[in-house]
Amino acid sequence: MSCILCKNSELLFITDQLRQIGEYKIVKCTQCGHYQLFPLPTKKENIQFYEDNQQDKLSGVSMVEDRLHVDTQRRVDYMRYNFPKEISILDVGTGYGHFVTAMRKIGFENIDGQEPSSGRAPVWAIQEDIENLDYQYDIITLFHVLEHVFDPKSLLKKIRNLLNPGGVVLIEVPNIDEALMNSSPAYTKFNFFRAHLSYFNASILENLIVSTGFKEVSVHPIQRYSVLNVLNWLKTGEPQLENPSFIVPNKYKFIDNAFRDKMVENGTTDTLWARGVV
Ligand SMILES: [Zn+2]
Repeated sequence: MSCILCKNSELLFITDQLRQIGEYKIVKCTQCGHYQLFPLPTKKENIQFYEDNQQDKLSGVSMVEDRLHVDTQRRVDYMRYNFPKEISILDVGTGYGHFVTAMRKIGFENIDGQEPSSGRAPVWAIQEDIENLDYQYDIITLFHVLEHVFDPKSLLKKIRNLLNPGGVVLIEVPNIDEALMNSSPAYTKFNFFRAHLSYFNASILENLIVSTGFKEVSVHPIQRYSVLNVLNWLKTGEPQLENPSFIVPNKYKFIDNAFRDKMVENGTTDTLWARGVV
């Protein structure tokens, strides 16, 4: 087996402590520094994994809209303030479709969602494999998709082909350099799991997007979870599962704001937000 990104075959063992006990390990490429799952499931196994909705069953975390409301709202606000409502958008790996539904509600009507997993896809979703699509879009979004796919490079190349000249790709992925990864062994174990084949940091993500031909590439650290969630991990070593703290009560907001600013400054946020232009 070789590195998902640079194809180097020298991989360094990092840990066999994953969220699910099993045959999987985490390895690091000695050439480009990319972290990935080992061994990689076959493409067929991966399709079956999502068909059976295994990620939701195994993670113990539900994907109901309430839980994801803060994420959806942040993404919708970004779109609202940066793009006109007429633009055409494709949301790749739309899941249960929360983002697309929220966008349509505020007047972005020219938006499609693609979701290959029949266990999740809403009735309106395009279930076709991305490889077979040939429409053109102004914006393509990939929210927590890239870490799940076999070949992020070829997916981004395909996405570039699906974008109009001047089109924009928007990407959100978890950040392997997040503060908790170095401070909570319990979190580190929870964070490594079967569904994620790749674990990106800012520079590897940036290089990947540049290498697939995008211009004006930028990567920004953003913090999804609040200081309460992080402190809970440090104190209990347990996830908050159904009720994670995305926000804190108003009275204590100044603490959370200071925490978020520091994480952004240090590049140790839990999430990365990237964009690239065709
Ligand atoms: Zn590599």
